[in-house]
Amino acid sequence: MENVTSEVNKLSTSDAKIDNSAVVEHEVEVRLADLQADPNSPLYSAKSFDDLGLHENLLKGIYEMKFTKPSKIQERALPLLLANPQRNMIGQSQSGTGKTAAFVLTMLSRVDYDIMAPQALCLAPSRELARQIMEVVLQMGKYTPVKAMYAIKDSLAKGEKIDAHIVIGTPGTVVDLVRKRALDMKNVKLLVLDEADNMLDQQGLGDQTLKVKNSVPKSCQFVLFSATFPENVQVFTSRFAPDANEIRLKATELTVEGIKQFYMDCKDVNHKFEVLSELYSLMTVGQSIIFVRRRDTAEKISRQMTKEGHAIVFLHGQMDGSERDRVMDDFRKGDIKVLITTNVIARGIDIQQVNLVINYDIPVDGQGRPDPETYLHRIGRTGRFGRTGASVNFVHDDLSNDQMEAIQNALGCDIIKVPTDDWEEAH
Ligand code: ADP
Repeated sequence: MENVTSEVNKLSTSDAKIDNSAVVEHEVEVRLADLQADPNSPLYSAKSFDDLGLHENLLKGIYEMKFTKPSKIQERALPLLLANPQRNMIGQSQSGTGKTAAFVLTMLSRVDYDIMAPQALCLAPSRELARQIMEVVLQMGKYTPVKAMYAIKDSLAKGEKIDAHIVIGTPGTVVDLVRKRALDMKNVKLLVLDEADNMLDQQGLGDQTLKVKNSVPKSCQFVLFSATFPENVQVFTSRFAPDANEIRLKATELTVEGIKQFYMDCKDVNHKFEVLSELYSLMTVGQSIIFVRRRDTAEKISRQMTKEGHAIVFLHGQMDGSERDRVMDDFRKGDIKVLITTNVIARGIDIQQVNLVINYDIPVDGQGRPDPETYLHRIGRTGRFGRTGASVNFVHDDLSNDQMEAIQNALGCDIIKVPTDDWEEAH
């Protein structure tokens, strides 16, 4: 019988960076080369980056990042994004397939470096994601004179103005900076929404994002990317980006093949913690993220796991920006192996060594309904760009069981049961 610890242990040994890193790198490269040659893979491309009409300074940056070939979304989207006259874009591609590079290269290609004013603005749903996008801009733009600045909470000193070509921020802070005249939008010609369905969600960031839209020139190119575009936001996306070129996935194409999905049937809420703790004592996991519904659960489990000797950190939206940055940097460096968090970073975060995602609580939306989109984004924190990973869902009563089944049905995926009482076998 397939079981989660052996699966994850397999993954983590083959990902271990200690003795066999050369072998691992080689394996990842071979797998990637196979996937990029397979027309059915989202990583497939018939072209090279040289064929996509990019400036040679950008090609230098891309090749220095060790990108050899574009992925399918990059190959298809870039020529459309860079064409003149410009057209809006609504682009969908599975998690971890290189959407960021597609819009970052567009921003870097569209700005006029002689004009020192904001010309491309990218909105993301969390400061963590904004910071990650900034890194990609700086890496890809290394051989350009680009100046990029944040518009995230506390990123500007009082009275400071943004004088950068590219601005990356969260919608609330952008609205705030526009109101304070610290961010001048008159030269903005490109507005990108990463995680666009989340940014336009009427229950969440939708209002702020619309305010941002109303403050940029009407002639802007509007670019929307996400792995998911649920039906209820589609009318907003088309209104936001009219007459767009659209690249869509079929409902059956949403899941990433490299991510194995499991579930464990716990006896009750308290048993969940026992199972988690047991799981961590058996596994030689690389890095993992545990998702919970509530901030206090994140803190509580983190305390309990720390008491049991595990190196674990938590991150949620109620923490200070600087504290969040520190936690994320520690986790990214690999100093800390386990991160426990809420939906605040369910989307976009790209850490290649993460090979396990645990849904300690099944994702539900604001109304308590099962949330397949958030599920996809959460498990998509592993299995990045052709890598393999595992996800484990904890269910503990009829309700959580039904919620998981609803998600499974909505996505047409297979979530395999792992008994919680076969620890002997799991060894
Ligand atoms: P998405 O935005 O679709 O979730 P990302 O843009 O974060 O995915 O890309 C996932 C990972 O794949 C990142 O670590 C990125 O550096 C890497 N990547 C993206 N495009 C390529 C490429 N063409 N070749 C190799 N690696 C790539």
